[in-house]
Amino acid sequence: MNELETLRSGAAALGVELDETAAHKLLRLLDELDVWNQRMNLTAIRERPQQITKHLLDSLSVHSYLQGTRIVDVGTGAGFPGLPLAVALPDKHFTLIDSTAKKLKFVEHAAGLLELRNVQTVHTRAESYRPKHRFDRVISRAVGPIENFIKWSGHLCVGGGRLLAMKGRYPASELEKLPSGWKLAAVHRLVVPGLDEERHLVEICRSHDKL
Ligand code: SAM
Repeated sequence: MNELETLRSGAAALGVELDETAAHKLLRLLDELDVWNQRMNLTAIRERPQQITKHLLDSLSVHSYLQGTRIVDVGTGAGFPGLPLAVALPDKHFTLIDSTAKKLKFVEHAAGLLELRNVQTVHTRAESYRPKHRFDRVISRAVGPIENFIKWSGHLCVGGGRLLAMKGRYPASELEKLPSGWKLAAVHRLVVPGLDEERHLVEICRSHDKL
């Protein structure tokens, strides 16, 4: 299978139908990441098959948990999971935030290159970000312990919304330390095509929310 087929069949296994244009955009994103990676260290994952599984498919694996229309990706880094999700879900609006200017510069550039009209970038720390409108889903991948994620980003979530933490192994010890006012809504085991590693999505809501 070539790269395009690997990506499209992996996405289909996740329930995401990527048309050719969307799939080409995602591969273009990886090409551009490679170019920028020569100048600055954006990501340690540099082999194409791994980039497809660990960046693209891993990002897409959470697509069915993004209810609502306003999504924020906290600590997006080089744009993961936010950019692949924005390509796959054009009807939702994605705000990608990060505290590191150089990474966000890449994300801005990539969003322009891929003509993603549903992406906004904000250079900020999550804890000092005060958006005009809050978000239905607040997602993050690889931004540290869940406790910190909630403390930094809880205020970004609408009433009845969810915080979504993308994790590797089941994060048992992190779940024992949820800040007061928040509770575990669910943990979803994710299977990423081509990836022989555990993945979990932790869903957090406010303590008074109905499950
Ligand atoms: N989410 C991306 C991924 O999975 O490839 C990047 C993960 S990288 C390990 C963590 C990112 O979170 C960094 O780009 C860092 O600048 C950002 N970050 C850490 N703390 C942050 C905060 N309080 N607010 C916004 N961004 C933060």
